Amino acid sequence: MTDRPRVNVTPETCAGTGVCSFYASSTFALDDAGKVSVIAEDGDPAEDVRNAADACPTRSIHLGIA
Ligand code: SF4
Repeated sequence: MTDRPRVNVTPETCAGTGVCSFYASSTFALDDAGKVSVIAEDGDPAEDVRNAADACPTRSIHLGIA
């Protein structure tokens, strides 16, 4: 598959819900301040990453074309 998205996050708007790490626990984690960070862009299947982005209540996850 060549459709793996680039993954960017905006910690400033993250509410620290942890929803993203529920869907894609090898891609997203919360840092010590409770804000999202990307731990590995290719940590989970692309579908899981998309589900995480779709589920983020603050739209703090941005996917682009690799
Ligand atoms: S789902 Fe969104 S608001 Fe919740 S921790 Fe992840 S980036 Fe932050």
